[in-house]
This record gives sequence, structure tokens and C-alpha cells, in this order.
Amino acid sequence: MEKLQSLRGMVDLLPAHTSLWQRVEATARDHFRRAGVQEIRTPLLEVTELFARGIGEATDVVGKEMYTFVDRGDRSCTLRPEGTASVVRAVIQHGLLSQGSQRLWYGGPMFRYERPQAGRQRQFHQIGLEFLGFADARSDVEAISIAWDLLADLGVQGLALELNTLGSTDDRARYREQLVAYLQRHKDQLDPDSQDRLERNPLRILDSKNPDTQALLADAPTLAEALAPESRDRFEQVKAGLTALDIPFTLNPRLVRGLDYYSHTAFEITSTQLGAQATVCGGGRYDGLVEQLGGASTPAIGWALGMERLVLLLEQVAGEAAVGPAPDVYLVNRGEAAEPAALTLARNLRRAGLSVELDSSGAAFGKQFKRADRSGAAWAAVLGDGEVEQGVVRLKPLRGNGEEQELPLADVDAQKACLVAIAF
Ligand code: ATP
Ligand code: MG
Repeated sequence: MEKLQSLRGMVDLLPAHTSLWQRVEATARDHFRRAGVQEIRTPLLEVTELFARGIGEATDVVGKEMYTFVDRGDRSCTLRPEGTASVVRAVIQHGLLSQGSQRLWYGGPMFRYERPQAGRQRQFHQIGLEFLGFADARSDVEAISIAWDLLADLGVQGLALELNTLGSTDDRARYREQLVAYLQRHKDQLDPDSQDRLERNPLRILDSKNPDTQALLADAPTLAEALAPESRDRFEQVKAGLTALDIPFTLNPRLVRGLDYYSHTAFEITSTQLGAQATVCGGGRYDGLVEQLGGASTPAIGWALGMERLVLLLEQVAGEAAVGPAPDVYLVNRGEAAEPAALTLARNLRRAGLSVELDSSGAAFGKQFKRADRSGAAWAAVLGDGEVEQGVVRLKPLRGNGEEQELPLADVDAQKACLVAIAF
């Protein structure tokens, strides 16, 4: 029979890798806890309209990448391609903003139908932060610093923070006219994608990877020149705030998010170690989104971090070998009376808080000891029919300089004390 395979771009996370993922998740949780950011969990499936309105029809994500289908109730549904729209929907739906500003984080799988390659999958995972109800430039600095410190704490090296401002809605409307006027004059030199964007989403042209288009843009008017004095001031405050926190950044005027509800700060955290998929974390201010989705006008800033890319970076750091954690005890056992007794002993030790790997092979003692050694456990607990008859278990150190002990089989407290005292 033909073997069944996972879908293209849908990747299994195998046991050898889960402990690194768990470390990243635990570190993120801890950073959010210390920063007073609370978790929110939303459904993976939403009505399609949420993303059409919340991300925008003109974007690649909505235009080309969504997993959309009609359900049995004739509803158009979409697997979430990102987290922000769902979080904002939930916050509006449950009236959370009436209780005050919200400092939220989320994590989990996202789905985009794109071409799979290193650091790009169709099901991938993000951890994201959203501050809703925060207008001040300090909240931009705080949001960025939480991402920066998390990545630093995980031990990721060689990161760069790229920063830009998109100005206010008015600034952008003014700039859009200038840019379109300039590009119209050189329309024949634009790549087809950018020609297409000229009407729909001209700011995204700044993001084009096409070298001819980039050359053309070198002489284009810049958004920085179109900023009103207040917007310029605000950007200065963000930069000064980052500098005061010793967070280095470079200005990247090409960094844009092409939708109307994005404004002011936009940023990415990138690594040169990731090839073409260089961005680990991207975010910015989206003051218009809550209103766009039917809530009261609410300033907001957030970011999302790509777990796969982050894990790729961590696996390059020495010492992040893909091995699972070793058990505290490996339970070697063989014999008609010993095997059921071992099951009870394993359960009692686990209840007492120890991690126990129970050998259930029934193989010769020598073979089981080899496996015990390979497991990385500090101790082997040995149970044969002879031990059961005497009512004891033998504890043998596999590492370090503990001494072999024989303890009453029924006395789990004594066993635990022995295992803990020497090994840990
Ligand atoms: P890219 O330009 O790489 O497609 P994006 O602008 O579409 O990124 P965002 O929507 O800002 O990405 O998502 C935030 C982060 O999520 C990205 O910086 C990246 O780390 C991660 N990410 C996005 N799409 C994918 C994907 N298909 N596979 C793995 N990670 C992804
Ligand atoms: Mg993308």
C-alpha cells in the first residue's frame, strides 16, 4: 500500500526537537509574565471576512496565501494566517477594552499557502504580542524591548533591529500621491508585480526585491520627507527610547506595511544567518485596525515572531544538540514477579516527582543496562525476582560517584531521598 505522507509544507515536530521548542516557549512565557502581559487563545478557524478586513484584500496573505473553504453550513472559513486580526476580534467581541488597556500575547500555528523552503512552511508557528489602548511612543519602545530581550535571553546572536516610521494616515496619503506621481512617470521601468501594485498598494513597491525597481526607487521621494513635525517628533522619541535602553537599531526607509491602518513605528528583527528568510520578528503600530474591525478607535502596537526561524537560529548555536531530557532513573527489571512489581515501583516514583524510564523489554539484564546507560539517567533502579522476594530494590549509580544502595521496595520516601541526594 502507498505510504501516507504529511501535506507539503506541513511539518512534523519530532521528539528530538520538542525540548528546544519547549525551552523557547517557557522562556517566552516567563518574559511575558515578568512584563505583565497576559495570554489570549483564539480559534484557529475564523470567518474569512475577518482577514479580508483585518489584513486587507490587497496583501499577498489574503490575495494568494489563505486556506479558505466553505463549511457544511455554507460559511466561508479560513485557517488563521496570522494572529492579530483574531486577537482584535476577540477583544472587541468580549468588550475587553472597557476594562482598560490590554497587554496580550498569543502563540500557536498559522497557515499560509506559500512555497515551502528553509524557514518557510505552510503550517508554521508564531508567538506574538499585542498592546491595545496604548498611544505613547514609550509603548513602542517597551514592545520592541520585550522582543529584543527575549531573543537575547534565548542566546540568539547577530540580530539586527531595523526601524522605520510610516507616519500618520495624513502623512501617508500625502506621500502616496508623491510616490505614485513619480512612479507613473517611470511605469515602463517597473517590474510587473510593482506595476500591479501601483494602483492597489503603491507603498508596498518600496518593499520590492527587484533590482531595477530598487534602482528606480533610489531617486523617488521619501516618506521621511513627507512626515509632519509631530510624526517626526514621535519617531525621535522612539529612537531615543531605544537608545536609552541600549538597543541598537538601523533605519530602513524601505520597511513598510502597506495598509492604511498601519501607522508610525514599523520594525523587523533580522539575522544574516537565515538566508532569504531573514526576518525573525516583525511588528509595528496599527492604530486603525480596531476601528476597521468594528471597535472604537484604539491605538495599538504589536509584533509576531516566527518560531521555526528562531529555532533554526538556536540550532546553529553550539550546545543546542537535538536530544531529549534524560530521566532521573532508568528502571531495569526482569522476571515473572519483578516485571509487575516494576510497574508499581515506576508509578510510585513518578508520583513522588521523579522521572522514570521503565524498561518493558524483558531483555537480559546486560542489554537493559546498556540502554540505561544510553538514556543518560543518573541512576539505574534494579529489580529482579530475587529482589522482589527480599522486598528490596537496588539503586546503582550510572554517573558520578554515588554508591550502590539497597532499599526497601515499599519505602518510596527513602528511595527518593537517596536518588535526589546524590544525583541532583
Ligand atoms: P516574509 O516576508 O518572510 O514572508 P511576512 O512579512 O509575511 O514574512 P509576518 O506576517 O510579519 O511575516 O509574520 C511574522 C513572522 O512570522 C515573520 O517574520 C517570520 O519569522 C514568520 N513567518 C511568516 N511567514 C512564515 C512562514 N510561511 N513560515 C515560517 N515562518 C513564517
Ligand atoms: Mg510572507
